[in-house]
Amino acid sequence: MTASRVAATACPLDCPDNCSLDVTVENGRVVRVEGARGRNELTEGYICAKVRNFAAHVHGESRVLHPQRRVGAKGEGRFERISWDEALDLVTRQLVETRDRFGGEAILPYSYGGSNGRLTQDTTDALLFRGLGASRLARTVCAIPTGLVATAMTGKMPGVALPDFESARLIVVWGANPHATGIHLVAVVERARAAGAKLVVVDPRRVGLATKADLHLAVRPGTDVAVALAAIRELFTSGRADLGFLRAHTTGWEELRRRAEPWTIERAAEVAGIADDDLRRFVDLYAERSPAVLRCGWGLERNRNGASAVAAVLALPAVAGKYGVRGGGYTMSNSGAWRFDSGFGGESTTRIVNMNRLGEALTAFDDPPVRLLFVYNSNALATTPNQNLVRRGLEREDLFTVVFDAVRTDTTRYADMVLPATTFLEHRELSRGYGAYSLHVADAVIPAAGESRPNYAVFAELAVRTGIARRGEIPTEEETVERLLDSTGRGPEMRAELAERGVADAPSGRRPVQLVDVFPATPGHKIRLVPEELDREAPAGLYAYLPDPATPVAPLALVSPATNRTISSTLGQLRRARVPLEIHPDDAAPRGIASGDRVRVWNALGEVVVEARVSAAMRPGVVALPKGLWSHQTLNGSTANALAPDSFTDVGGGACFNDARVEVERLGV
Ligand code: SF4
Repeated sequence: MTASRVAATACPLDCPDNCSLDVTVENGRVVRVEGARGRNELTEGYICAKVRNFAAHVHGESRVLHPQRRVGAKGEGRFERISWDEALDLVTRQLVETRDRFGGEAILPYSYGGSNGRLTQDTTDALLFRGLGASRLARTVCAIPTGLVATAMTGKMPGVALPDFESARLIVVWGANPHATGIHLVAVVERARAAGAKLVVVDPRRVGLATKADLHLAVRPGTDVAVALAAIRELFTSGRADLGFLRAHTTGWEELRRRAEPWTIERAAEVAGIADDDLRRFVDLYAERSPAVLRCGWGLERNRNGASAVAAVLALPAVAGKYGVRGGGYTMSNSGAWRFDSGFGGESTTRIVNMNRLGEALTAFDDPPVRLLFVYNSNALATTPNQNLVRRGLEREDLFTVVFDAVRTDTTRYADMVLPATTFLEHRELSRGYGAYSLHVADAVIPAAGESRPNYAVFAELAVRTGIARRGEIPTEEETVERLLDSTGRGPEMRAELAERGVADAPSGRRPVQLVDVFPATPGHKIRLVPEELDREAPAGLYAYLPDPATPVAPLALVSPATNRTISSTLGQLRRARVPLEIHPDDAAPRGIASGDRVRVWNALGEVVVEARVSAAMRPGVVALPKGLWSHQTLNGSTANALAPDSFTDVGGGACFNDARVEVERLGV
């Protein structure tokens, strides 16, 4: 007889929505994952197809079930099974020997939001690597310009709650595609539109909400700053800027106005490759309709002008006076609503390695060289710019690479040691939304597959074995959960809400109204429109436009947007089919390219061989390959990241994926 039960949990993955989940378990295996009903107003019975299919991730053939040691050549992917005890002994010996021989900085921990749960990163891992004196990783592959700008301008003021978009009469979705990431916003936008709201989408591609928008601005990648500054200029010159609000609630508005001055509608439209009238219409809609809400995504930060673009977009609600009403203002990451402290923080002065330059760190650093790379919560080879340089680094025979993951990835192929990690269904986890204002604490719903173990436990064990901590002195997972809850300032209330509903609200409340319930966490609670620290760091100053890096040899902009099939690269092992390059008919025709043709996409950094799909959803001059592809999804094993430069955004050292400039040529059959 089959024992079936439904367990409540939540999705911690790198997505704004933090869905409440009901997981059906039969005989210790996940058979169904659904959106919970009655616990979470945003989720309410509906989740994305990615996580509905999560059982295939947990129980699939790519799952790492045992510790393994390399027996083949690097990149070959041949391993032998060993025991956890042997694996931990070996990793411990390598960590200690590397530190003693080359210095702690020769150890590089490499991680990003592959799990995104609060127990899975920045807890015992931080304790271990700080104790070893390891190099510190600047986690810059995503959300760095946006985070720095939001911090400087508003102190990361919590944004408009996603359900409150329904109160808006104008919704602007800028650099985001909720059909791919954060799908619950789509239904909210549709309800708002049914009630009369207008929708504007700013995206180089005509996909998702852009296909239904009242106005779609298909801007060239990297030109968002020009478009937003032109809108600001037009609001001032036409007398529609809210000077009363600017004087009362902002600093730097006159300087912002001065910097926007060169950006006439005509000039910005030409730079962005859009029609003057469309840009004028956007300004009219934005000025005239209230409440107006701006959903600022991460697409506009992934280029040389990223921080300036985000700053200009986030300045719009202040210039037009859109705050102070439900459904008015902006939303970007709402992670600022949570001020967690896991208790594992601490001082370190070791060198900082920007993760976007992993290839350089592995191939060129010599003081000391990186001798031990520890990858967790990340498929580094699939997600880092300048992929070929990263691969060269991973091939080094004198580099010891540990990969701690739930499934075999492109990166595990280069590992000397593979450690099996649990998924969020197999360990205790605390998760919170960075769009949704929800928090969950969930226990494992199934036993760990094979011999997989949680990050928390493995890093704690390594900390003990390396002598960083004594057994019994590291807080338990339960104690760290309690610490995290208390660090928000409303631990008791959260515990009560979790006990009653299974979901707790953010400290800012479930539906804060900007400038009514939540305020800028800045001096005097003012919105800082030209923060000096950003202005100093940006090479040409904040709001400067750095021109397009296209050359006659590489004239096409390659963008690599998120899709509805993977979460960054997570779940990529389940997408077996090859993916095409999308190219506009105007770019395909002169190159003799038709849909289904094999094409070579190339620049000085590398080449990708795929099939072409000719599509009017692209704008001319822009081609696209999905974000987070794995090697099996192209014809030559390279992905868009092989063509992405490891240059930095204007502020913060962020990744410039969308500054990839390429040529495309048709290959013979
Ligand atoms: S990835 Fe996003 S939409 Fe999908 S289940 Fe997780 S939180 Fe929900």
